[in-house]
Amino acid sequence: MTDSRFRSLNDDLRERFGEKLYKLTLNGGCTCPNRDGTLGTRGCIFCSEGGSGEFAASPQLSIQEQIEDGKRRLAGKRPVKKYIAYFQAYTNTYAPVEHLRRVFTEAISCPEIAVLSIATRPDCLGEEVLELLEELNRRKPVWVELGLQTIHEKTASFIRRGYPLPVFDRAVKELEARGIEIIVHTILGLPGETADMMLDTMRYVNSTPAAGIKLQLLHILKHTDLADYYQHTGFHILTMNEYVDLVIRCLEVCRPDLVIHRLTGDGPKDLLIAPEWSQAKRQVLNTIQKELKRRNTFQGRLYSP
Ligand code: SF4
Repeated sequence: MTDSRFRSLNDDLRERFGEKLYKLTLNGGCTCPNRDGTLGTRGCIFCSEGGSGEFAASPQLSIQEQIEDGKRRLAGKRPVKKYIAYFQAYTNTYAPVEHLRRVFTEAISCPEIAVLSIATRPDCLGEEVLELLEELNRRKPVWVELGLQTIHEKTASFIRRGYPLPVFDRAVKELEARGIEIIVHTILGLPGETADMMLDTMRYVNSTPAAGIKLQLLHILKHTDLADYYQHTGFHILTMNEYVDLVIRCLEVCRPDLVIHRLTGDGPKDLLIAPEWSQAKRQVLNTIQKELKRRNTFQGRLYSP
């Protein structure tokens, strides 16, 4: 760790690649079984029409064009040498395997792409897809980011996640067996979840071979069923102080070696209904750092294997 009290993604990347890597958010043109009618049509209750990928490039462009476009955007801001090709929108293993092979191969063929990172659902990792990921992982590191959100079935069913926990367990096992790095997405602040329930989710992730975790603040976005639910029930939205406290408690129980890929999130401005404070992402992150120091605490302080 550098100056921080948790194992941040940047620290991890510097150790492994000798420098910071920048994410290029790409769109592989996939959809999602929770939206195309296979499991449902309205998606997870919090998911925006863009499939949680509002910052991704246009799927009208080829992957090469998306990469060039992303590189141009970053070039003005800082000197960048290497990138992570991040397939974020929708379910990025939910397509015929030949399509996946084409888009992923196009991405890793770019010499400046150092890592291929794929966000997906654990129920969309069939044998052929796993074989493809294993093959690609031999060329460049492949990370699979699994949208778990919570381990609690009641919440999972409320948010319409669409698969039970054993499906996640099986996917984790299959990925581990193939040497593919796993990152788990979790959401803090889901309706009906107490802090203890969220800490249970952290402990569960500890018990898996996941290399990294994302802690995502629940956002209420326009045109989602969660927005309607919020309007009707006015359920409690975390304040910034509550969120900071919760994140610190999560960090304290997280395995010390678990790489923290995200500590909050900034939903698309034009879609965000609440919490408004989340737009000040820098301030949230600074407050977390300051509070970790003030409490003299750190990642893994309360971890027990
Ligand atoms: S699985 Fe992902 S893309 Fe699909 S509905 Fe849920 S959040 Fe949206």
